[in-house]
Amino acid sequence: MRAAFNGGVWLIAVFFVLSHVVAAAERPNIVVFLVDDMGVMDTSVAFLTDADGKPQRHPLNDFYRTPSMERLAARGVRFSQFYAMSVCSPTRVSLMTGQNSARHHVTNWINPHQNNRGPFGPPDWRWRGLDEQSITLPRLLKSAGYRTIHVGKGHFGPEGTPGADPRNVGFDVNVGGRSIGQPATYYGEKNYGNGPKPAANAVPHLESYHGTSTFLSDALTLEAQRHVQEAIDKKQPFFLNLAHYAVHAPFDSDPRFASHYRESGKPPAAQAFATLIEGMDKSLGDLLDFLEARKVAENTLIIFMGDNGSDAPLGGPHDVASSAPLRGRKGSHYEGGMRVPCIVAWAKPSRSSDVQQRLPIMAGAIERQFGAVYDVFPTLLHVAGIESPKEHAVDGVDLESLLIGRQEETRSQTFLMHYPHSPHRSDYFTVFRDGRWKLIFHYEPASMPRAARWQLFDLESDPYEADDLSAKQPKRVRSMGQAMLDRLRAQGAQFPVAKDGQELLPLTP
Ligand code: CA
Repeated sequence: MRAAFNGGVWLIAVFFVLSHVVAAAERPNIVVFLVDDMGVMDTSVAFLTDADGKPQRHPLNDFYRTPSMERLAARGVRFSQFYAMSVCSPTRVSLMTGQNSARHHVTNWINPHQNNRGPFGPPDWRWRGLDEQSITLPRLLKSAGYRTIHVGKGHFGPEGTPGADPRNVGFDVNVGGRSIGQPATYYGEKNYGNGPKPAANAVPHLESYHGTSTFLSDALTLEAQRHVQEAIDKKQPFFLNLAHYAVHAPFDSDPRFASHYRESGKPPAAQAFATLIEGMDKSLGDLLDFLEARKVAENTLIIFMGDNGSDAPLGGPHDVASSAPLRGRKGSHYEGGMRVPCIVAWAKPSRSSDVQQRLPIMAGAIERQFGAVYDVFPTLLHVAGIESPKEHAVDGVDLESLLIGRQEETRSQTFLMHYPHSPHRSDYFTVFRDGRWKLIFHYEPASMPRAARWQLFDLESDPYEADDLSAKQPKRVRSMGQAMLDRLRAQGAQFPVAKDGQELLPLTP
């Protein structure tokens, strides 16, 4: 009985392997180029638009130097309103699962050493992150024949849990990823924090660069190239998740670029931040060169993005400074806390490429409709010709129509971001964007009697969130507040809990 059963399994397995070998030749390579703590203004590429939808430059675009991003933007579509979660781990898990953080319940950044719930956070939030059972993008791509390569920051689970090793969430290869959310140091001379007494945030696996002047972003780029080359040699399509530690703190100045910012008049930490940006950009350029030299660029799709709003050390969390002209910084409920750069492009556009004819991405285009981090999952599965398992709920929507310029009236112009935790720059809040309107609810569980607070902005007439309209438009607050609550409920959101044990909801007045 057992032998017959095993024989049947083998036959099925052989069938799937053969079908994958046939299909694999048509599957494009995929690169997710994820930059930590990079906001939409931390680049010389203009992402914001004027009233006519044309890219509009602002002073920060002239401060930063990102020529490789300019090169990529000229080859594809960039988004003026692309949303991430306000901190790291929620975005990374949304990217892996296609789910909003309200649904997947990794609603706060994962502290490598303890439950990071905060005093009033949901008691059973998913603080252990992803594990071997999680349905993830790399796992699905791997099952379809992709070589799945993770290089850089993982941050999918705390120390001692499965998620601490990206290989447990679907990657064949892990270089540099563990529980940590930031590197001890970017300097090869300091062994990236390793040594006789390793620092808590020591970056693993890069021993061959220890004691050299190889900056961390370069070491990761070289490792990414090495593993991509292996996949090319095996004629296997690859999924590279190049998740840079840059440009997260510590703001270690990269000596190769420091002179470019010395006369800027900006504080030293902001100058160092700009060198991290420029080094990250060099990594992108090196990778594009590499793909072209290996003749796989036409067959490789790149999604470039940040994981939360800017953390440029230029001002307070709610000021118009770090992401100017947008208000706010990483962690904030304002736009600067969650608007990130996103560029989607073929590494080298070609009209004769078969895979590109199936997804003819516009070159040099800018898209004003919303995109969000959870849209990457369905977009990439579609590109790879893979169906998401029926039992796995997905909040994202395939970006295809926006990439090829087939505008769809029906695409929902909404975004929900739920942060039922503290402490960060903003605590215990939910943001609901619906078209031009943005509603923010502050739960304020510490104040007794409860003093819940609403904010309402019209981002069409007030894109920099200067004029709170919540007192003037109570009817809109009520209707949008109800829609926010309905959406949270539909996604199975967990809420903050007050001192008396009562769950707090965004209830309208
Ligand atoms: Ca981050």
